[in-house]
Amino acid sequence: MAERENTDPQKMEKIVSLCKSKGFIYQSAELYGGLNGCWDYGPLGTELKRNLKEVWWRKNVQERDDILGMDGSILNHHAVLTASGHVGGFSDPMCDCLLSKARLRADQIDPQTGTAYHYTGASHAESGWSIEKPFSVLIDPTANQDENKARKTAKQYYAQFLSDKQIAPKKLELVGETTTEEVDTTSYNPENGSLLTEPREFNLMFQTKMGASSDANDPNAVAYLRPETAQSIFVQYKNVLDSSRVKLPFGIAQIGKAFRNEINPRNFTFRSREFEQMEIEYFCRPEDGLRLTEEWLETRLSFYEEIGVPRTKLHVLDVPDGERAHYSAKTYDIEYEFPFGIQELEGVAYRGAYDLGKHQDHSGKTLEYFDEETKERFIPHVVEPSAGCDRTVLALICEAYDVEDLTKEGGKKDERTVMRFKPSVAPIKAAILPLLKNKPELVAKAKEVQKLLQPFMNVFYDEAAAIGRRYRRQDEIGTPFCIAIDFETLGEEGPNGEDLSDTVTVRHRDSMEQERISISELLPWLLERIR
Ligand code: ATP
Repeated sequence: MAERENTDPQKMEKIVSLCKSKGFIYQSAELYGGLNGCWDYGPLGTELKRNLKEVWWRKNVQERDDILGMDGSILNHHAVLTASGHVGGFSDPMCDCLLSKARLRADQIDPQTGTAYHYTGASHAESGWSIEKPFSVLIDPTANQDENKARKTAKQYYAQFLSDKQIAPKKLELVGETTTEEVDTTSYNPENGSLLTEPREFNLMFQTKMGASSDANDPNAVAYLRPETAQSIFVQYKNVLDSSRVKLPFGIAQIGKAFRNEINPRNFTFRSREFEQMEIEYFCRPEDGLRLTEEWLETRLSFYEEIGVPRTKLHVLDVPDGERAHYSAKTYDIEYEFPFGIQELEGVAYRGAYDLGKHQDHSGKTLEYFDEETKERFIPHVVEPSAGCDRTVLALICEAYDVEDLTKEGGKKDERTVMRFKPSVAPIKAAILPLLKNKPELVAKAKEVQKLLQPFMNVFYDEAAAIGRRYRRQDEIGTPFCIAIDFETLGEEGPNGEDLSDTVTVRHRDSMEQERISISELLPWLLERIR
């Protein structure tokens, strides 16, 4: 099993660079220096994401009798998010570095051990300037750091308050130096040793104003960009129930954007400020909740396997008591071995009657379910499998990325970059390649094949460069099948004198093996393999 912290930054760098150069994912507003925590999907990334969402929808809605879909508004009523607890509590503890002003999430700072140097202030004798302000620096003697590092950092800190910027920090004198030994402290910035502010709660929601309200402080004009898709499901649960006449257990599924003003967006798209979720709220009788949580965990694990994330790379974290939300009797995190460590892809949480109960209390309207057989009325319990669409796309990309050494003995170095996407999620299903671009009959036949397939799948026509190079280009973007149209297709005899007219060569991306298939069978042959 891989180590939780075992990372491969070089691989990640290569993946990020391939994503940009091939058109999977770009930094948002890159032209203007980038919008932190936001990403744009390019032509291939868009196809990959659409395919993922389509498979998720097919498996969870289309192929099930007990789950219905919905598509709620992105702007959320403040009352909805007040009832859910997001207005009062959806926050992360954050602290600021007193020296660099960097903002850090308090719960993500690694504990450090070392000597803390404390000061009460600083002065500059020549100009008569002085300041009284406590400041501290942590140094790590085991990393060859000494008092000089502490003093240099402290002088840089106090120099920020000088009105005369001509005075060099090293000309300052520090006042009141004392030391203490610190063990496992999280009060200092691991980057520079500077003291951090005390943690403060920072609400992660993006707030906005609705309508042309004349009063900027009118609370009714406040709306939020939803921080999760789940809340619109809870507040529409009764409408879905009444309009669809479903019976427990049943689920409501939704795919859509969510927004969180994350303090430290990082690890490429993994932690973004704008992202998509694929969520199911599965409503059930209270006594079925725990059993269904276990079932959902298995269902979701099989889903990842089906789209190309092997079980061996997935880890199930049974979130311990004290770390789960207070209303949750069971929560599993499904984690994946990303090149930057083992991190969460999806949460499967048993939420009890918490959400519907809260909305019933706050709205004053009953959200009870009436069981016609038992004549009971009760608030259904909920099991929530909540997956990140962008995180899953990233996992698919990381999992697909491979560099294969094809160097022949004594030959020139030959490496093949290949994205081993499952055909069901691959952005392009088949490339159509006429052997030569200057033979009109080959081009015409290839275009015919393109027209035949286009209504059913995303295909790519390419006639530039030698066929071998074109194959490699498709390998790099993960196209599972390359279809070559050659002279045999047009009626020339095959190597053993056979008639191969109206057949094409299909080359498989992973094995690089080739086979001949007749054009009339091509469409069903491909459809069977790309689902
Ligand atoms: P984390 O602990 O990583 O912040 P979370 O437990 O807060 O995630 P949930 O609120 O359970 O996340 O959201 C469900 C899913 O939404 C997560 O499993 C993840 O896949 C996705 N998600 C949450 N926050 C982000 C984000 N900032 N960027 C991308 N995906 C996210």
